[in-house]
Amino acid sequence: MKELKISPIKNGTAIDHIEPGMALKVAKLLGIPEPGTRSTVSIAMFVKSKKMGFKDILKIEDRELKKREVNIISLVSPNASISIIKDEEVIKKLQLALPKTVTGIVRCSNPNCITNRDEPLESEFAVIKEDGVRLRCVYCDRYVNDILESIV
Ligand SMILES: [Zn+2]
Repeated sequence: MKELKISPIKNGTAIDHIEPGMALKVAKLLGIPEPGTRSTVSIAMFVKSKKMGFKDILKIEDRELKKREVNIISLVSPNASISIIKDEEVIKKLQLALPKTVTGIVRCSNPNCITNRDEPLESEFAVIKEDGVRLRCVYCDRYVNDILESIV
């Protein structure tokens, strides 16, 4: 029997199997809350899960996430599963793949970096997979200390 913690959505995106405690960070990565929009967003944290022990769930009404946005989630929650829902049916499942580069979402911590100048270039980071995921600025080679704190 399935226990229903948050109600299903009619149209939009459901992100399941988020690392427990990370739902708010995933929301931040996705630019939620988005100024000027009033779509319903449901967040459930520390939901009991057979597979994971605990998990977080995030549901966004009336927003269909794009592949690029989905891949960003893998920076903080690589095992999340994403379903696109239309008329209460899952019409598409999206696989997470770690992006090779991240553009414009994260700020470089080097104040002298060309991306932080008066007329800044859009930031770009190479995604390095070592112990977990690290980001390296392609302009000045500095590593991002804390990805979540550096999100623009
Ligand atoms: Zn830099």
